[in-house]
Amino acid sequence: MLFTDLGLSESILRAISEEGYTSPTPIQEKSIPAVLKGGDLLAAAQTGTGKTAGFTLPILQRLSTTAKAGGKRQLRVLILTPTRELAAQVQESVVTYGKYTGLKSTVIFGGVGANPQIKAIAAGLDILVATPGRLLDLMSQNCVSLANIEILVLDEADRMLDMGFLPDLQRIIDLIPAQRQTLLFSATFSPEIKKLAQSYLRTPVTVEVARQNAAADTVKQVVHMVAASDKQRAIVKVLEARTLAGLSRQCIIFTNSRLGCAKLSRALERDGIKAGAIHGDKSQGERTLTLDAFKSGAIEALVAT
Ligand code: AMP
Repeated sequence: MLFTDLGLSESILRAISEEGYTSPTPIQEKSIPAVLKGGDLLAAAQTGTGKTAGFTLPILQRLSTTAKAGGKRQLRVLILTPTRELAAQVQESVVTYGKYTGLKSTVIFGGVGANPQIKAIAAGLDILVATPGRLLDLMSQNCVSLANIEILVLDEADRMLDMGFLPDLQRIIDLIPAQRQTLLFSATFSPEIKKLAQSYLRTPVTVEVARQNAAADTVKQVVHMVAASDKQRAIVKVLEARTLAGLSRQCIIFTNSRLGCAKLSRALERDGIKAGAIHGDKSQGERTLTLDAFKSGAIEALVAT
């Protein structure tokens, strides 16, 4: 199947083709037609399956074909995500795929100043991507109205529940018109997710895609058995071996605690490896700077919880 078979408009197809994508992923093949039909959707899909475009593309299509003429823009789509990073990523997709549609969007999340976000909302928007906490915060200041929302997306709903956002979600959803389209994405269909879906979705179409191969074919997986006290040295050795082989040392290292994360990052720095740490004690500004430095190559080892 090709993207051109899905009934998407010229402006959206152009943006997709500029990204270099020709064929929809399995989740996109199933979710795009379902969302275009206007009904609710319950989708089991993990990150990496292309789920973001799976809801972004048909939403852009629905908004641009039913554009409200004249007057100030009204907020018609709300996309809720569990984390700031995911919110920023989803917003990037909305901007990328929607660049020829003339639709306006913004992203709001905590940890950064609210004023630029308030200004962007006041200027008029079609689509808002938000984390629940900051959204409620701005709603309580009467900066956001959900009275005209037509489509609600709960992205990574299982993680939102894991993070204790259920009461926040309930408060938010209660203020959205009942006459709406609701799309729920979750990696799992746990009993809690089923209950959430029963409360807020109406006769949803259910789509499920098998988890794609966890690692790309180009990834070689290796296990090194080392004593805890040797772990740092082992990492340094692996990275040094890559330098000797003329390979890039860029890597992501996951740790299980904030303290361990900070310690490992400092230890790598002492060994001459440009490292940066990302964990919950870092401000959003610091996290963004570190991610950008990793993307630009200024940081070789990104150490993260
Ligand atoms: P997601 O699961 O939404 O986080 O997307 C995973 C990655 O797949 C992102 O980097 C997308 O840019 C990419 N992607 C999304 N749709 C396609 C497609 N149809 N073909 C190739 N890559 C895609």
